[in-house]
Amino acid sequence: MTVWDDLVGQEKVSGQLEAAARDADALVTAVAADTPLPEASKMTHAWLFTGPPGSGRSTTARAFAAALQCTSPDRALGGIPGCGFCDGCHTSLIGTHADVQIIRTDLLSIGVKETRDLVRRAQLSPAVGRWQVIVMEDADRLTEGAGNVLLKAVEEPAPRTVWLLCAPSLEDVLPTIRSRCRHLTLRTPSVAAVADVLVRRDGIEPDIAAAVARATQGHIGRARRLATDERARARRAAVLKLPLRVDDVGACLKAAQELIDAASEDAKQVAEEGDVKETEDMKAALGAGPGGRMPRGTAGVMKELEDKQKRRKTRTQRDSLDLALIDLTAFYRDVLALQFGTDLALANTEMQDALDRLARGSSPEATLRRIEAIAACREALDRNVAPLLAVEAMTMALRAG
Ligand SMILES: [Zn+2]
Repeated sequence: MTVWDDLVGQEKVSGQLEAAARDADALVTAVAADTPLPEASKMTHAWLFTGPPGSGRSTTARAFAAALQCTSPDRALGGIPGCGFCDGCHTSLIGTHADVQIIRTDLLSIGVKETRDLVRRAQLSPAVGRWQVIVMEDADRLTEGAGNVLLKAVEEPAPRTVWLLCAPSLEDVLPTIRSRCRHLTLRTPSVAAVADVLVRRDGIEPDIAAAVARATQGHIGRARRLATDERARARRAAVLKLPLRVDDVGACLKAAQELIDAASEDAKQVAEEGDVKETEDMKAALGAGPGGRMPRGTAGVMKELEDKQKRRKTRTQRDSLDLALIDLTAFYRDVLALQFGTDLALANTEMQDALDRLARGSSPEATLRRIEAIAACREALDRNVAPLLAVEAMTMALRAG
């Protein structure tokens, strides 16, 4: 399996990247020999991958990084760059290659300081590989100041540095940055393609793979999680009961509170899994004495870690709530499909009865209004409106009648 096999339903993009990786070799050779650079090269120093959540932006960026660092001897014979087996490919994919930096953040934003550090490192020549590759998985989280720092680096890149930026859409990236990048759009893979990869790569039963691929509408990561994590399945089932429950104000408020509670429960669980160990490791690194007594002057560092964990918790909570809202949207989209009598494949076939009931008992206009209310709630959360208030406004708008 080559690195391109991990890209599900993105044949066009992987073709372009494969061609770029081939041209990249010629570019390196020309730079090394100090000969004129090849004209019309498909390789460039800054790339921007956009696509909806689940389309595989970071998987694509990593595959390209691997292809650039691929050391397979077959390459010289015209083989595909990105064999998937050599050391260059392997270490790039798992994030341990000395010349591939994978920047992902658990936080809501990427600041000026860390971006400056990154830009400084990016100026270095590659240590072992052909290129110095920086994969920034959440370029949409750069603050404006950080974006301006990055802009300088993208404008005048070191000769063998490549920036691979990922973001949901073009609008999420500063116009000055995106105009310097070659832009590739990923699309949501088909339900069938997702089911296929779950069976092939993750060994999931075909029936289950088909059901979760349908339920998540082509989001590979979520589909895999639903297939393998019972907690995620239970949470989703609870969320999808909500539309049938919200028939009076009391029920609406209760449902809103439950959504919020489930999201904080999620964040708590994630934090328990990671934070304790992280704190222990940090204490050990700083030289904690017997009984956990910390040496002088380390309080600031510990406080910084605590703040970081707190911000991460907020983000997990927000992401979890957002997933619930995406599931709800899919539910009402199914209702709308039934009302319009389209033969669109339903996401929630296992709830056919409930969907039918809602479809018969309301008008398409009412369903559209509900879908809009969910979208408005997601926007409000994005603007940092207090979550409970935003969700209450939404559940009230979902009420029957
Ligand atoms: Zn390789």
